[in-house]
Order: sequence, then C-alpha cells, then structure tokens
Amino acid sequence: AGEVRFDHVRFGYDPEREILHGVSFTVPAGHTLAIVGPSGAGKSTIARLLFRFYDIQGGRIRIDGQDIAQVTQHSLRASIGIVPQDMVLFNDTVGYNIGYGREGATQEEIEAAAKAASIHDFIMSLPQGYETRVGERGLKLSGGEKQRVAIARTLLKDPPVLVLDEATSALDSRTETEIQEVLRSISRRRTTLIVAHRLSTVVDAEEIIVLDQGRIVERGRHADLVRAD
Ligand code: ADP
Ligand code: ADP
Repeated sequence: AGEVRFDHVRFGYDPEREILHGVSFTVPAGHTLAIVGPSGAGKSTIARLLFRFYDIQGGRIRIDGQDIAQVTQHSLRASIGIVPQDMVLFNDTVGYNIGYGREGATQEEIEAAAKAASIHDFIMSLPQGYETRVGERGLKLSGGEKQRVAIARTLLKDPPVLVLDEATSALDSRTETEIQEVLRSISRRRTTLIVAHRLSTVVDAEEIIVLDQGRIVERGRHADLVRAD
C-alpha cells in the first residue's frame, strides 16, 4: 500500500489565482519522490494538498486508487504521516515526545521508531535515556535532533506514505546531511516517501520532479537533472 497519484491537479488558494496548473505524477508504493524547484514553485502546496488541507479545483489526487476527496479525514490520517518542519517539543521526556499522539504505544514501539529515525543511539547516550526531559525547560536539542524526533513520532504511526516538507526550512548543512541519511534509511523501508525540498541535493529518489511556477518542468531519476536553483 502507499501508491500516490496526482492527475492534472489544479489549485489556487485564491480561485482567481491558480498556483498549480495541472500537475500529474505517480509514486509507486514504497518509492521515493523528491519535489524540488525554486521558492514559490508550489512544493509545499503539493504537500498540503495530500492532507486535504484545501480542496483542489481540478483533477484528482488518489492514494491506492482512492480519491482522497472521498475518504474520511480519519482514514486519510491513517494512510499519511506528515513531518512538520519545525516541531515544538513538549517539556517532557524524549520518550513522551516520540510517543505523543499514540496512546498505549509501548516502549518497544517507541524505540523501534527512534531506531528507524536514527535517533535511538543518541537518546541512549543521554543521562537518563528515554526518560531525559527535553524542550525549553529540559535538554535543548539541535535542529537535526528535533527533526529526527519529529520523524520518529510520525514513523510510530507506521503510515504507508510519509511526507516531509523541507521546502522552506533553513537547515544548516550538517543537519541537512543528517536528515538525508535518515531519509535514505526510511526509503529502504516499504514506506512511500515524498520530500519537498528547496535544494537540488536530495535523497536517492526513484523519481525527481522539478517544479517551476506550478508546473512540472522536468522529471527524471538523477539528481544531476535538477540544477534548477
Ligand atoms: P514552495 O513550497 O515551492 O516554496 P509554495 O507551495 O509555498 O511554494 O507556494 C506556491 C505559491 O503559493 C506562492 O506563490 C505562494 O506565495 C503561494 N502561497 C503559499 N501559501 C499560501 C497561502 N496560505 N495563501 C495564499 N497563497 C499562498
Ligand atoms: P494523528 O491524529 O494520527 O496523531 P495527525 O494527522 O493529527 O495525526 O498529525 C500527524 C502529524 O502531522 C503530527 O506530527 C502533527 O503535528 C502534524 N500536523 C498536523 N497538522 C499539521 C499542519 N497543519 N501543519 C503541519 N503539521 C501538521
């Protein structure tokens, strides 16, 4: 499960001003798609439409053949996980922060998600492991550590489709490298991965689409396709 398909999707926040002018692509289940292109191209918009934050004005978005306009918000949330760009941590333990939103998550499940997000070893190196308090009044985590906690929280749901919107985040290059390594390991799972990214240096995606002003201007397999910035 986890095939994502956009067919001639048209959308504007203001119906008078169209932002996406008929965008089509298919991501087979388990594949990784990178959406790159200049700022304002519409990358984040595509990510938001997958969650039906807005209704589209033309075309169709399907997950596993199902029109997302026809499914309940509940079942949509079960099939898609979004990693927020800048997650706010609770003033609680790192374990709580990963398990948040999943009542009854076991320590084993939390650790498995942390391992998948490449943050388990780091957590084990903390003074109190998973019981270490983080957030404003606890241990301060770096941008990359926070991001990996956010990825672990989303992976705990084990969604067939995982969306990362990095389109406007300004990560430093070390963080960038860390996150790319995490994405690489996620992409080896059966999870479908969609990454919206401002840069042309992205994960080893099976497919890259280059978006410019709401249109796909190039698509292909290789990162060297995309010197669009
Ligand atoms: P990218 O992620 O590629 O930088 P976006 O999807 O954020 O691009 O934006 C695409 C276009 O939509 C831009 O012209 C932007 O100004 C506009 N836009 C983005 N978000 C909103 C919004 N909430 N309301 C109105 N216009 C928006
Ligand atoms: P669930 O209800 O299964 O816990 P949600 O769909 O509510 O999952 O949220 C999944 C993830 O998406 C959470 O980490 C949440 O913070 C994030 N999220 C939800 N809505 C938004 C949004 N509007 N913008 C960015 N991130 C969001």
